[in-house]
Amino acid sequence: MVRANENYLKLRGSYLFSEIGRRVREYQTLHPDAEVIRLGIGDVTQPLAKEVITALHHAVDEMGSADTFRGYAPDLGYSFLRETIARCDYTDRGCDISPDEIFVSDGAKCDCANIQEIFAPDSSIAVCDPVYPVYVDSNVMAGRTGEYNPGAGCYKGVIYMPCTEGNRFVPDFPDKTPDLIYLCFPNNPTGAVMKKEQLQDWVNYAINNGSVILFDAAYEAYIAQEDIPHSIYECRGAKSCAIEFRSFSKTAGFTGLRLGYTVIPKDLKAGGVSLWQLWARRHGTKYNGAPYIVQRAGEAVYSEKGREQVRQQIAYYMENARIIREGLTAAGYSAFGGENAPYIWLKTPGGTDGWKFFDTLLTKANVVGTPGAGFGPAGEQYLRLTAFGSRENTIKAIERIRQL
Ligand code: PLP
Repeated sequence: MVRANENYLKLRGSYLFSEIGRRVREYQTLHPDAEVIRLGIGDVTQPLAKEVITALHHAVDEMGSADTFRGYAPDLGYSFLRETIARCDYTDRGCDISPDEIFVSDGAKCDCANIQEIFAPDSSIAVCDPVYPVYVDSNVMAGRTGEYNPGAGCYKGVIYMPCTEGNRFVPDFPDKTPDLIYLCFPNNPTGAVMKKEQLQDWVNYAINNGSVILFDAAYEAYIAQEDIPHSIYECRGAKSCAIEFRSFSKTAGFTGLRLGYTVIPKDLKAGGVSLWQLWARRHGTKYNGAPYIVQRAGEAVYSEKGREQVRQQIAYYMENARIIREGLTAAGYSAFGGENAPYIWLKTPGGTDGWKFFDTLLTKANVVGTPGAGFGPAGEQYLRLTAFGSRENTIKAIERIRQL
């Protein structure tokens, strides 16, 4: 008799965004004239850069002519894109990464969810708390985490590394050594960053303990400070202990277009087995490549004009982040992040529960944030605000919160 994968039944209900939606709908039904501003959603709002649009049009035309038509893409990505990425994102920044260590995909979410497949089923995992939920959920589906304990807000078999005001939202080394360590900096949801020495300490820890770091750099384009690494490969020895994920989503507004990549150095081994080879095999078996036209659009992001246009989009969001952070601080709130990341981690006043504060902001200021509890127990007294809204709405929302 057929049986379902019961690991899926262990997943904690993904009620966060549906519960937010329910509360907003309920409020709007009672107050149909209220103008609700959403600063909770992690999706971009600016249109694609002109250079990207031009490249898309050109690639579409190529698909319409027999001489330039392309069928299946090479499963690891077109070399024009892999070479551009290797040069612009790595060698130009002093990192020794070659084009064939880059695996092009349709986004970082699938890669960071799927990467666990190439590790042993009994590998132990460590995540930051709060955390981007995909890392944990993908391991739950693979049967690696044990049951969820609703009281503690944790899975029994996961090592949670609390990120609090006390450690500036950068985790300390865990008591128990994990096999896999998920790190995401600049961080979603806290907006925190790691300095180069801090990331180097993690690389040394991984090398000394035989662990692998899964480094999510989806927000590296938002880094403004000099001493913050854009890639884990800026650290000594990282090629022997780290995998890196990158995304075009927040860097160039590709959330709807879909493009990302994963770097697996050829030196990286687990128990003597090449992880590059396993991922190449997995990619070749389960994935048929990102679309040609999207890879051409990705290449355009690195052109001189493309870079400038994308830089302006990021500057727009970062100005929103500044308005949020400074506005909240001036109003007496404790707000973190927003300097090298598009996320602001707002502490609830007087230690109020995040959902209660969510309701206050919704009903008194008509502003929607994301309660931090949705990202882990250490987020319970926080709310995540994002800088991805329009300037007008961002200013209006902060003014309303200030007047509370
Ligand atoms: N990693 C982090 C930390 C994210 O916040 C997101 C998107 O919200 C992703 C990965 C997913 O990126 P993509 O759109 O490339 O799948």
